[in-house]
Amino acid sequence: MQINNHQYQIQNIPVLEIAQQFGTPLYVYDADKIVEKINQLRGAFPQINLKIKFACKALTNISILKLMRQNGVEIDVVSPQELQLALHAGYEGSQVTFTPSGVSFDEIEAAVAVGSMINLDNLIVLEKFGQRYGGNVPCMIRIKPNVAAGGNAKIMTAHEGSKFGIDIRQREEILTIVNQYGINVVGLHQHTGSDIKEADAFVRAADVIFDFAQSFPNLQIIDLGGGFKVAYKKGDHITNMPELGAQLSEAFLNLSKKLGHELQLWFEPGKFLVSEAGLLLVQANVVKPAPSRTFVGVNSGLNHLIRPMMYDAYHHIVNVSNPEAEKTGVYDVVGYICETDTFAKDREINEVHEGDVLALLNAGAYGFTMSSHYNSRFRPAEVLVYQGKA
Ligand code: PLP
Repeated sequence: MQINNHQYQIQNIPVLEIAQQFGTPLYVYDADKIVEKINQLRGAFPQINLKIKFACKALTNISILKLMRQNGVEIDVVSPQELQLALHAGYEGSQVTFTPSGVSFDEIEAAVAVGSMINLDNLIVLEKFGQRYGGNVPCMIRIKPNVAAGGNAKIMTAHEGSKFGIDIRQREEILTIVNQYGINVVGLHQHTGSDIKEADAFVRAADVIFDFAQSFPNLQIIDLGGGFKVAYKKGDHITNMPELGAQLSEAFLNLSKKLGHELQLWFEPGKFLVSEAGLLLVQANVVKPAPSRTFVGVNSGLNHLIRPMMYDAYHHIVNVSNPEAEKTGVYDVVGYICETDTFAKDREINEVHEGDVLALLNAGAYGFTMSSHYNSRFRPAEVLVYQGKA
């Protein structure tokens, strides 16, 4: 969202106009921003055969999936339902990676049936895969490298206590099963967590995978997951993509040399591609003074954006109706759900009046997709701004 001619705009369309046209609460996404992020990621790995697989759990809106596809981004799914959405958006089964955790084997069989690549994340399922398909179906193995990193304990996925992946200390068991059934392992995968700002954490996890990769002479793919940090607040440290690109590329090219053939490097970003492209527009229903604070009660809540409550996430809030206010106020912005659903506490915002439209920024990832019908309320509509049109 940009400030232009004293208005908040997306691709030159005033955000307030979008709110008036479609009503609130409303999710709005900027296609240009998504394309910019795709190019930024590709630009960090110029020497590498890179594939981006959008972790669509972050945002499964069908127009977003089509936009990803048009821009050469493939897709990572975690459920049969996401797989169906990917196919519905026009992806070939072979462009889809299925990275489930602890699912029943029939979900894996269904994904194999449409030609998807499977990331196997436990020894039992690896053995079942071998028994069922032998070496006939290529697959990948999700490794837990035992690296703790991420913005919050709830979004770390590769530390010793995490349920995800096969612990790297079980490498011998993996190799025994793979050899016993002649399983065609074409890739190794790991995903460390979300909101990782230090390039070093990615490199440490990658090193574990690069080392194990040497046990698979025919390996074709290294998938290093997602987790790149974006800025939620001014001054937030983010993943330095050029630095990460340079560090990982060097180690990756060394691995290719050791294995004697070119490898593909895959990433599965969610947040990095769509977080900054999205905002949630809400309207102030009440401005409620109390002795110690003033509450702004909006027509939304944790049913639409759960991240502040679930992860203590910060979402910057701007008063779209009052961009040039002479006065600001300090508010607690709260939802209308029968829970303590506080979007922001003691937040300075341009003076808010009843009926004003507020924008919660950086809401593109894990916003709509984590929304619910709690309190039997509807979900917001979603609007994509594409080629200058909402
Ligand atoms: N890949 C896997 C396996 C994940 O579990 C996730 C997130 O949970 C992602 C990728 C995307 O993470 P992020 O949105 O932080 O990039």
